[in-house]
Amino acid sequence: EGSDDNRAEDENTPPLPNLADGDALDCQKITPEQHFTQPPPRYTDATLIRALEEQGIGRPSTYAPIISTIMDRDYVRKERGRFQPTKLGLVVTDFLIPNFPDVLSIGFTAKMEERLDDIADGELRWEPMLKDFYGPFDESIAKTMKEAERVPRESLEEETGEICEQCGNKMVIKSGRYGPFIACRGYPECKITKPVESPEERAIRELISEDVDEYCEKCERPMAVKTGRNGRFLACTGYPECKNAKPLRVGVDCPDCGNDLVERKQKGRNGRIFYSCSNYPECKFAANPLPQPCPDCGKLLVTRGRGRKNARCLDESCGFMGPTPQEELEEAVA
Ligand SMILES: [Zn+2]
Ligand SMILES: [Zn+2]
Ligand SMILES: [Zn+2]
Ligand SMILES: [Zn+2]
Repeated sequence: EGSDDNRAEDENTPPLPNLADGDALDCQKITPEQHFTQPPPRYTDATLIRALEEQGIGRPSTYAPIISTIMDRDYVRKERGRFQPTKLGLVVTDFLIPNFPDVLSIGFTAKMEERLDDIADGELRWEPMLKDFYGPFDESIAKTMKEAERVPRESLEEETGEICEQCGNKMVIKSGRYGPFIACRGYPECKITKPVESPEERAIRELISEDVDEYCEKCERPMAVKTGRNGRFLACTGYPECKNAKPLRVGVDCPDCGNDLVERKQKGRNGRIFYSCSNYPECKFAANPLPQPCPDCGKLLVTRGRGRKNARCLDESCGFMGPTPQEELEEAVA
């Protein structure tokens, strides 16, 4: 009693009333609030690299390959800029950790990085170091191959909540050699498949309507939107008799030359949609669409170059230019 701590508290806290047994207290206010513990937010590129740095895993030259590897293998997918684990990623992790506890420990990997640095600096010979590693590692692989329970393929499938338009079975996300794709559970009878899209990608695709009111100038049949390896395009519904096809127009003129802007897709599995000038290669205008609308006029917003930090409105008369609006993004991808 009488310590400094107590005195400090006494000055700020009103004295307790003198209560006797059985006195009624009046309750002034009840706030119905339940507190849930928030899980830590999922990693972004920046926070993941910071975590790797802090734990001593990887080196500046390997951060980018580490991230592209976990994405290419479909262990994580990016949603709103954050990595979300896939079912495959969770199953692989749950399988590897109990079967290879040493190799999967953060301490082991950090120690390995240190030894590799020592080898690079000529302070450690690599033959004995590798021998030390491979002996026990080989043994645990052999043991796992013999003893570990196999994971059934179906357990890797993720439900999408979608139903196959063709046969009514559930549509699920499967992992293939070339990455994830959506397929009908009725396979092999039903062979319907489609690509996996992030909410951003879907929002960007939906910026351009697939209801086109256009007729083939060669045979006068209606044109329709088709999706090929290089993204969407307009094709004549008279195919295969009429092979007329053309790019999908964005509906906005090129800001540099006034020709039509058209939708294109980068090559490769994770290729993104971008807009380029129909007058390419004479005009080299190209821009990345953003899923959120222009905060000033509500029209299409794009970014130029690699970063997605600075947005500009495609409508020249609006002229909005500024940091990519974030609140609108939440709404656009909801
Ligand atoms: Zn089906
Ligand atoms: Zn035609
Ligand atoms: Zn142009
Ligand atoms: Zn605008």
